[in-house]
Amino acid sequence: MRILVVEDEKKVASFIKRGLEEEKFAVDVAYDGEEGLYMAENTPYDLIIMDIMLPKKDGLAVIKDLRAKDNPSPVLCLTAKDKVEDIVTGLDSGSDDYLTKPFAFSELLARVRALLRRQKQDRGAELFFADLRLDPVSHKVWRSSVEIDLTAKEYALIEYFMRNPNQVLTRTMIAEHVWDYSFDSFTNIIDVYVNYLRKKIDKDYAKKLIHTVRGVGYVLKEES
Ligand code: CA
Repeated sequence: MRILVVEDEKKVASFIKRGLEEEKFAVDVAYDGEEGLYMAENTPYDLIIMDIMLPKKDGLAVIKDLRAKDNPSPVLCLTAKDKVEDIVTGLDSGSDDYLTKPFAFSELLARVRALLRRQKQDRGAELFFADLRLDPVSHKVWRSSVEIDLTAKEYALIEYFMRNPNQVLTRTMIAEHVWDYSFDSFTNIIDVYVNYLRKKIDKDYAKKLIHTVRGVGYVLKEES
């Protein structure tokens, strides 16, 4: 397992590198965004740990570039900011999870392991629901044969809905499955993401598929 750490604070970078190496990971470090992007594009990393505030090119811009080029490595964002909108921006740009500084190494390690585990999970056959089709190998989704352009998080969310159709999914369930852990204080992120998804999946179609169950959560179903 090879991990890239992109972090300009030398102390933080060496703290992460040392800890991960003790856990038998191979770790490379880049100290600015341009170097990080170059390394990520030229080595197939199992995971990238990306600081947001970086010299030369900020972490979010690096992640966007990587995702635009279909780089599949999962990204864990490090941020000093803990405002919901910054986290949403980070997740929306294509990162898979985030951690706010300062953090305990044990917490970082738990997030790293969860992301690697999810990466390894069986991807399996295509999923169908109503006129939706999802290909878990290419991460592509279609509605009525029209391909829908989704961010990584939106894709994870629709995949979770399509694996559990006609079942009410609570915000806690969604948080635990799509983000791998529960974050009670950030459940409004889920509402934000469900709304993004609705704009892409339902807005232009007469038949709505994602329904709100007031006070509980959401359900993917055909009837209103
Ligand atoms: Ca920094």
